[in-house]
Order: sequence, then structure tokens, then C-alpha cells
Amino acid sequence: MKILGAIEAGGTKFVCGIGTESGEILDKVSFPTTTPNETLAQVEEYFRNKTIAALGIGSFGPIDPRPGSPTYGYVTSTPKPHWGGFNLLGELRKHFDVPIGFDTDVNGAVLGEAKFGAARGLDNCLYITVGTGIGAGALVNGQLIHGLSHPEMGHIIVRRHPQDQYEGHCPYHKDCLEGLAAGPAIEARWGVKGSELGTDHLAWAIEADYLAQALVNYILILAPQKIIMGGGVMKQQQLFPLVRSRLLEWLNGYVQHEAVLNAAEDYIVPPGLGDNAGLCGALALAAQA
Ligand code: ADP
Ligand code: ZN
Repeated sequence: MKILGAIEAGGTKFVCGIGTESGEILDKVSFPTTTPNETLAQVEEYFRNKTIAALGIGSFGPIDPRPGSPTYGYVTSTPKPHWGGFNLLGELRKHFDVPIGFDTDVNGAVLGEAKFGAARGLDNCLYITVGTGIGAGALVNGQLIHGLSHPEMGHIIVRRHPQDQYEGHCPYHKDCLEGLAAGPAIEARWGVKGSELGTDHLAWAIEADYLAQALVNYILILAPQKIIMGGGVMKQQQLFPLVRSRLLEWLNGYVQHEAVLNAAEDYIVPPGLGDNAGLCGALALAAQA
């Protein structure tokens, strides 16, 4: 049995683990993301006495995910102090003499869900995380998308909800999807954390409206067979039925496919891998490295 190494490199915390080619996590640790030097030292320490056949990294971004590019494996323009322009993959290569798969956290997560989780066996699916930021990864005909760089589906433009006066917090666009619907936007709009708002608060109808608009666009452009919604904000389970019904209203009967029309429990779903979606994604990146 091959043991694979996995790193979920997040802006807040790093999770490192080992697991199998079938997506089983055997061990994991997590520590806060500080400076690159300090954080990478902890990564190396964790893997020091472990024999792995390959390593996968699902990273926060933006990153350069294009093999062959001069900055392949770099964290590029992140506002996170110390990390902009850091050669993450290059640093890891100094310590790991095994094949290494490197991609965005959400590309990893969609691959993991397609290999081991809620979208098992599907070639076209989408994973969206709604947390500190919003990002999505798509598997299209079995491939992750790398064009100029990687998709940035969190920054799409949405129509403002009529009852929403919040200006939005995206440093680039103010009221793009992320600026209006990520966790910090909910907190700034209502003055308390999302986790402290009642489940029937207006906040969730507004949130579901923005997320449904995003899904409409993703569905019309990519025609995914399944959409997986994760991240801290999606811990609010009541969002799932709200998003499904708002999605149908926005589509207004246009997409005549049964899976969408029923907007059923099995079209828009939480991660099958639960809180391990990120780490299993990194494992999936290792498996295909
Ligand atoms: P990250 O995006 O940093 O990887 P998370 O996916 O946990 O981490 O997202 C963190 C964001 O999600 C924060 O803005 C937090 O307020 C929000 N959040 C976390 N848990 C909940 C919850 N139960 N209900 C609503 N919002 C939550
Ligand atoms: Zn934006």
C-alpha cells in the first residue's frame, strides 16, 4: 500500500497528513499559518520520519498552477504578509524527493470530492467554499482548469439584493460575490459573526440569494453534474434549501434538466468528505502527481 503525503495550505492554518490512494486519512496535524520559514519548518518536521510515495498540496492563493511557467508553484499576489511571491513548491522540493502535485485548495477539493467523496465517479462537478473568502474549483471533462492561471469564481459580479445596503468588502471590487457573501461580509453587514445569527434571520435569505446567483452562472457556463458547497459559512445548514429554491427562481425554468429542476438534495450538497475535504483534496493531488 502506497502512503501519500497531503498538505492543505490555508491562509489561516496549515493541515498536514498522510493517507492512502483511496482517500483514507491515516494521520493529520494542524498549525497556524505564520511566516513561510516558520510554517514550512513545521511541515518538514511533520513529514521528517514518514516515508511517502508522493505529496499533494492544495494551497490558498492566488498561486501559479501552470507547470512549465517560470513561477510555477509560487504564491503570487496574495495580500497575506510575507507570502506574496513565495516559491512554496520550490521550497518543498528541497526537502521532498517524490512527485509533487500542486494546485489551489479548491481545485484539490473538487478533485478529492470527485475521487473519494460526494461527486464520486463524475467528470464534471464544482466545489465552492464560502469562508473567509469565496473560491471555487471545477472539474471539466475530468480535468482541473488552468488557463491563464486558475479560475477566480469568487469574484464574479452579482446583482444586489434589494434589501442589502452593505457596500461590500472586496479590496478590488467592493461588492463582488466575495465582497458581499463571504464570512467577513456577513459579520460586517450585521455587526455579529454569522454563527451568532438566528437561523431564520434575513441574513440567510440575502446570503442564499447571492450564492444562488453564483451557482446560476456556474451552471450556465460549466454545466456541472453536481455542486458541492463547503466552508465555514455553509455550516449554516438552512442555507442549502434556501439556495436550492432561490436557484430555481433565478433560472426560471430555463435549464430543463431533471437534476437542476428538482434542485434536489443530491444536486447541491455539502462535502462528502466533511471537514477533510481540503486534506483529501491534497491527497488526490498527490495520487495524480
Ligand atoms: P477559511 O476560509 O479561512 O479556510 P472557514 O471556511 O472556516 O475558514 O471560514 C471562516 C469564515 O466562516 C469566517 O468568516 C467565519 O465567521 C465563518 N463561519 C465559520 N463557522 C460559521 C458558522 N457556523 N456559521 C456562520 N459562519 C461561520
Ligand atoms: Zn472581488
